[in-house]
Amino acid sequence: MEKAEGALAAGSVKLHLFQPSGRKLWTVVGKEGEYWVDPELSFCSCKDYYFATLSGGAPCYHIKSVKKAIEEGTDALEFSDDDYVPFLQALAAEAESALR
Ligand SMILES: [Zn+2]
Repeated sequence: MEKAEGALAAGSVKLHLFQPSGRKLWTVVGKEGEYWVDPELSFCSCKDYYFATLSGGAPCYHIKSVKKAIEEGTDALEFSDDDYVPFLQALAAEAESALR
C-alpha cells in the first residue's frame, strides 16, 4: 500500500473527463509510461497486471492508486469527446510496446 500512496502523493493518478458525454478514463503515470486503469473492471494496462494480476496475483499498485483516488476524490482533467479514441489508441500502443 505504501507504493499506492506514493503514486497518489506524486500526483501521478489522473482522471480524464470527456465532455459532453461525461465519460471517465483513469490513468496512472508509472516509471515506464502511462497506464490505463479501469477501476470497475479492475483492469490495468501495465506489465504487472498482465503477468501477475491476471494469473491470480494481487491487483497492481496502479489499480490500488486509482481506487484510493476515487475514495479521496481528485480533480478531473477535461477533454473533448473527439479526443477519446486517439487517447485510447495512444495508451494501447504504449501498452503493446511495453509487453514486447
Ligand atoms: Zn498496473
